[in-house]
Amino acid sequence: MSRLLLVTGASAGIGAAVARLAPSQGWERVVVHYGRDREGAEAVAGDIRAEGAEALVMQADVADMSAIAGLFARISELPSGPLDLVNNAGIVSPGGPIAERTPEVVRRVFEVNVFGAFEVARLAVAYMRAHEGGGIVNISSAAARLGSAGMYIDYAASKGAIDTMTLGLADELAAEGIRVNAVRPGLIETAIHAKGNDPDRLARIGHTPPLGRPGAASEVAEGVLWLLSDKASYVTRTILDVTGGR
Ligand code: NAD
Repeated sequence: MSRLLLVTGASAGIGAAVARLAPSQGWERVVVHYGRDREGAEAVAGDIRAEGAEALVMQADVADMSAIAGLFARISELPSGPLDLVNNAGIVSPGGPIAERTPEVVRRVFEVNVFGAFEVARLAVAYMRAHEGGGIVNISSAAARLGSAGMYIDYAASKGAIDTMTLGLADELAAEGIRVNAVRPGLIETAIHAKGNDPDRLARIGHTPPLGRPGAASEVAEGVLWLLSDKASYVTRTILDVTGGR
């Protein structure tokens, strides 16, 4: 059976770009996961089908552990085969200094970006062990090594956790042939900045990377799918910066 690609948070931004690129890179079946934006997910699925691949639209709040279990229950009903995971769903909190990083704000960021990503990875590994293996790419952020002072240290720390999870999981799964890598996007043109109450962020600092411009979601997608592909067969435990040099 052909490889199945699960992209979490695929209704918009980087996740949507990965899902849309997948058919041209050899994936014949894509699970377009979304949280709230069913319309966006259906549009992505329509584009995948137009490429001749199968698209399955599935909803789950990744901050809700039982919803993630439900997602994998639905995936388990599909014809079985290897599973590749792009652990992408994520949020930023509205920017501000440490005084504004209240327990509620920090908890929400960690619930989605860390607890959700961990549980998705845990259930994906269980699926891979039962169905001919697969690979994982976690979506981190350049914030993990920059720290995001004055903006969202909580978000940066959540992505630091994703980097560390990537290293440990890669070590744990290497003997089983499951490669685990991460991509750290830099300043990428998506709606995440507006969702973090900073819609002008890229207009303000998008020129600051050495390449002199923000990146496109499609440029991140290329790196993600390369890491999952057989072309990267000797690459694991690697964190790829797609940041224009930032
Ligand atoms: P986006 O807001 O366009 O997409 C985020 C996706 O995650 C959406 O599809 C959203 O529905 C989904 N999501 C959020 N919370 C969810 C939840 N509770 N349950 C299910 N799905 C949920 O943003 P994006 O820029 O495409 O971000 C994608 C990933 O890339 C995130 O992990 C983000 O942290 C990371 N990233 C983005 C940038 C950037 O500049 N855009 C930079 C570094 C890292």
